[in-house]
Amino acid sequence: MKRCTLILLFLYLGTTASPPWGFWAHKRINRIAVFTLPEEMLGFYKHHIEYITANAVNPDKRRYSTAGEAPRHYIDIDHYGTYPFDSVPRRWDDAVAKFTEDTLLAYGIVPWHVNRMSWWLTDAFKERDAAKILRLSTELGHYIADAHVPLHTTENYNGQLTNQIGIHGFWESRIPELFGDDYDYFVGKAHYIDKPLEEIWDIVLESHRLVDSVLSLEKNLRAEFPSDQVYSYEQRGNVTTKVYSLTYTKAYDDRMNDMVERRLRDSVIDLGSFWFTAWVNAGQPDLDGLLNPKVAEELQKENEMMDKDSTYSNKKIIGREHQNTGSE
Ligand SMILES: [Zn+2]
Repeated sequence: MKRCTLILLFLYLGTTASPPWGFWAHKRINRIAVFTLPEEMLGFYKHHIEYITANAVNPDKRRYSTAGEAPRHYIDIDHYGTYPFDSVPRRWDDAVAKFTEDTLLAYGIVPWHVNRMSWWLTDAFKERDAAKILRLSTELGHYIADAHVPLHTTENYNGQLTNQIGIHGFWESRIPELFGDDYDYFVGKAHYIDKPLEEIWDIVLESHRLVDSVLSLEKNLRAEFPSDQVYSYEQRGNVTTKVYSLTYTKAYDDRMNDMVERRLRDSVIDLGSFWFTAWVNAGQPDLDGLLNPKVAEELQKENEMMDKDSTYSNKKIIGREHQNTGSE
């Protein structure tokens, strides 16, 4: 067990990977979103909150074992032109007709996948299938959170085109892990979304509007900062890892004026609202009648099998946003 933990820690903090939004942030977003829900939904979601939290990262674990998983986490929207990307049809069928499915898959499909999942979740509510509701709610949270990350919406997703390799994990893992406990998580109540497809596109476009700040603020800071204070070393167990130093991380976070916190908070309220909307569209089924302790147990077993299968603990996480963090 201890050895396993160490390997995981190494993967998590080490040079091989920096998981999207950080595992910490994905779990936190899913967990807090539960508390945005109305009374009629709250009991069911709270009952399963440990599952919803722990499994927020499943889509990332699947990235190397499941064909077609990787492009669901991002869209390189700038591949198609410039903001506001009117040339990209918002509806999947129209986009396929214009660009072909292969092209869409090559540059990422997060907005379409979120929309599709919200339909699946609506169906699960209609079918009153507790296991499906849980699995889809949990995973929808992952993709909605990813769509809030600016660097999930650009071809320059890890600063590799601007000599800023490592910025992906810096923004979405290092910052929330250092400062996330102090964020304000009071985000209000989930609301009904009239047009989920438009909503997720708005989220993606807002993320993209922030890309320039994410990159330029770090570039400017780096030019002014003492170069020997950008990185530091952290000892976890018997593993030493080079990381962005606390002072450098704080300075970058300050320049972004709470951007990471804002995107994290928006992820929470938007996720709660997508859950709520699917439930409303399904006719507001009674969820308290679906409470059954066996459901979470069965889902947990499935996940354990998946973990064994995917050799999670001894394989590098691959995929376009899991590039080297540059902290070598
Ligand atoms: Zn992801």
